Amino acid sequence: MITLPGERKSQEPGEGSTWFTSTLDYLVNWARGNSLWPLPFGTACCAIEFMSMVSSHYDISRFGAEVVRFSPRQSDVMIVAGTIVDKMAPVMKKIYDQMPDPKYVISMGACATSGGFYRAYHVVQGIDEVLPVDIWVPGCPPTPDGLMYGILKLKEKIERGELDR
Ligand code: SF4
Repeated sequence: MITLPGERKSQEPGEGSTWFTSTLDYLVNWARGNSLWPLPFGTACCAIEFMSMVSSHYDISRFGAEVVRFSPRQSDVMIVAGTIVDKMAPVMKKIYDQMPDPKYVISMGACATSGGFYRAYHVVQGIDEVLPVDIWVPGCPPTPDGLMYGILKLKEKIERGELDR
């Protein structure tokens, strides 16, 4: 019997106890969603807002996603924060490929999502041309709260098993 945070400890049957039953998949996804290790792929101004989000003021550690890693081997969510030019796209893809499964991608801001206001031949017009994006965070730049909301939405999708692959 496992007691999750916020659940009452179970008692013996017949004592008015509350029983919690689940599947192994649910528990694994619950653990994954609550222990995300972000890899920031910051290339421009959006990365500054990412830095704010991991500061003590916003305190992303409340949701278990404060262990920022700069090694793809130790990360499971890539946060692309900034403009991606054509020369950089293969590098970004290579780093993504080096992350172990299961792994997720958050596109942070207008530039990563659609090229932003850089309607130029050398700018990737949306990182979904290169990576499988799971969460889009709008804004130029998104606020730290907005990015945090995106991480919470990613956590929910993982827990619901929508991103099992
Ligand atoms: S979306 Fe705006 S804030 Fe973010 S990298 Fe592009 S120009 Fe900078």
